Amino acid sequence: MSKITRRNFIQTIGAFSATSAIGWPSHSYAAKAKGHVVVVGGGFGGASCAKYLRKLAPGIEVTLVERDARYFTCPFSNAVLGGLYNIDFITHGFDALRQTHGVKVIQDSVTEIDPTTKKVKLAGVRNLKYDRLVVSPGIDFLWDKVEGYDEETSKVIPHAWKAGSQTLILRKQLEQMRDGGVVIIAPPENPFRCPPGPYERASMIAHYLTRKIHKYAQSRLSIDSTRNISSVARNHRYETSSDISL
Ligand SMILES: Cc1cc2nc3c(=O)[nH]c(=O)nc-3n(C[C@H](O)[C@H](O)[C@H](O)COP(=O)(O)OP(=O)(O)OC[C@H]3O[C@@H](n4cnc5c(N)ncnc54)[C@H](O)[C@@H]3O)c2cc1C
Repeated sequence: MSKITRRNFIQTIGAFSATSAIGWPSHSYAAKAKGHVVVVGGGFGGASCAKYLRKLAPGIEVTLVERDARYFTCPFSNAVLGGLYNIDFITHGFDALRQTHGVKVIQDSVTEIDPTTKKVKLAGVRNLKYDRLVVSPGIDFLWDKVEGYDEETSKVIPHAWKAGSQTLILRKQLEQMRDGGVVIIAPPENPFRCPPGPYERASMIAHYLTRKIHKYAQSRLSIDSTRNISSVARNHRYETSSDISL
């Protein structure tokens, strides 16, 4: 059996890399690709996929179907609550995808997918035919899971876990909060979309209440059924005086 030395190991790796470079589909292969790809959902997943498909394979026609006219990023939405940025900072349109990357963007909801005929049905009645389909609709709320809480209630007691109008409602409530008021954050049970989110949010709200307006207001972090990281903060609270403790 041949002995593996540092030298022949490096030679083998070199040879493997060279073969891989020939064997893997290269950019020039992608550049010749044709067809129609439909992407459902214009969030981080769908929009990135549409953009890079067009960049790598400009011969492919890409249609992105997104329900909303604008996308509000959840990342940095807590900083909007904390008053570090305004809502424009987390608001994104689809013009760059259209104009710079040649993606066809349709504002509509996909209601049905038929993989046999390779068609997606849109709420706006029309059908789209595809060669390949990318489904990236993110996640949604299960409104029947928390007793007494539904979409209508969320306009009064905002969850703000989906950025946009919910962020604005909560921000307004914080601005209007009286001195000595209490903010309670009830994170969902693990696993959830952004485990550090409730803590980031508590810190941002505490920052806002302490430094900007209500010097003596309290922001209380309430944790109940969550485990793991969340349990660290169980039964503790944020005091928004100059000494913030957890
Ligand atoms: C408060 C908070 C803070 C966060 N901070 C971070 C962070 O700092 N860093 C990080 O990496 N992640 C963070 N996340 C997680 C991040 O937001 C998600 O991982 C990310 O949004 C997932 O992207 P997505 O494209 O899969 O889904 P989404 O962002 O949910 O996008 C899905 C899109 O599909 C559209 N859609 C859904 N159904 C249909 C349909 N039937 N037809 C047409 N369109 C449809 C929706 O309108 C939506 O625009 C945070 C999340 C929260 C809640």
